[in-house]
Amino acid sequence: MTTFEPIQMVDLKTQYQAIQAEVEAGIRHVLETNQYINGGPVKSFTQNLATYLDARQVIPCGNGTDALQVALMALDLKPGDEVITAPFTFIATAEVISLLGLVPVFADVDPLYFNLDPADVARKITDRTRVIMPVHLYGQTAPMEPLMDLATEHGLTVIEDNAQAIGADYLFRDGRRVKAGMIGQIGCTSFYPSKNLGAYGDGGAIMTNDEPLGAKINMIANHGSKVRYYHDVIGVNSRLDSIQAVVLDVKLRFLDDYIARRQAAAAAYDAGLSGIPQVITPARAPWSTHVFHQYTLRVTERRDALKDALQEAGIPSMIYYPVPLHLQPAYAGYGYRKGDFPISEQLAEEVISLPMHTELTVDQIDHICSTIRQFYHA
Ligand SMILES: *Cc1c(COP(=O)(O)O)cnc(C)c1O
Repeated sequence: MTTFEPIQMVDLKTQYQAIQAEVEAGIRHVLETNQYINGGPVKSFTQNLATYLDARQVIPCGNGTDALQVALMALDLKPGDEVITAPFTFIATAEVISLLGLVPVFADVDPLYFNLDPADVARKITDRTRVIMPVHLYGQTAPMEPLMDLATEHGLTVIEDNAQAIGADYLFRDGRRVKAGMIGQIGCTSFYPSKNLGAYGDGGAIMTNDEPLGAKINMIANHGSKVRYYHDVIGVNSRLDSIQAVVLDVKLRFLDDYIARRQAAAAAYDAGLSGIPQVITPARAPWSTHVFHQYTLRVTERRDALKDALQEAGIPSMIYYPVPLHLQPAYAGYGYRKGDFPISEQLAEEVISLPMHTELTVDQIDHICSTIRQFYHA
């Protein structure tokens, strides 16, 4: 019998070993120079990320949730203003809307690519709508061109939640390629360790080509202050620290390689899982590259039993996300009901994400695919 390295949902150890010397030297330098906050590594990483994204400005911050919150705070919104987003996402996207006294208005996602459906967004626009906040779920972009058209037509700002798709390209109809996060007025991302560009702790960033807006975002993330101890507006304290910036600056150089490895793993999964009637492998949107933050299947039968069978075979899997936001107890006060977002509700019952990281081997993927095939007797 073949023995396998234990399969992990996310393997950060092997990836660390490949960059260990450089990361440790950089961290030691931070320790020796005591520039823990706003030090050289933060400036270097921020500039390199701006170059990678072709962004006029990148504002580093404490985490992806803060990035979304600070972005919203920069827009001079009033309590009761509406922000349209998807209910099939991580809570952070909607949480910051609620926290700021704004109203999260959900629009359903599409069943193929799992991202905001522009037709449903159009139906949800009212005279109180101010912002559309698409999420680039699992690693491919929402249909940004129709969403931007809607935003222009109605005078709305678009904030991209790009926590899961850093490095993905949006392909415009006229042939332009623009990095995810750089299509709307503001992009937000997370450097949570398991994200495609992950720190060894928390981190986040906000990106924009609108320089006055970028200056305001920078001010809000730093206590509403441009000059130390002089405060123009009420802000927050949200910073990326130098140690995380060292890690991110090294990993950024490998991001495209990491993405290529994820895409290769995804292609191997696609091949290994083809022709199983109960399994729908991830569709690729024609307008986006896919950076596979997750490799997420839809399975039309016995999803939870499949998860147990995988577990028994030593294969971890995750359900992202088991309950759409409109059905979470935290959102009960907004008056949504079961049935309001049928696609999101169906996906919550059918999705299952398989192990996805830069270190998956062909043997591991074969084992995972044949376990699924056996489960469905296919
Ligand atoms: C991870 C994530 C966030 C939040 O990022 P943190 O750094 O954990 O605060 C927000 N939105 C989405 C879609 C995410 O996946």
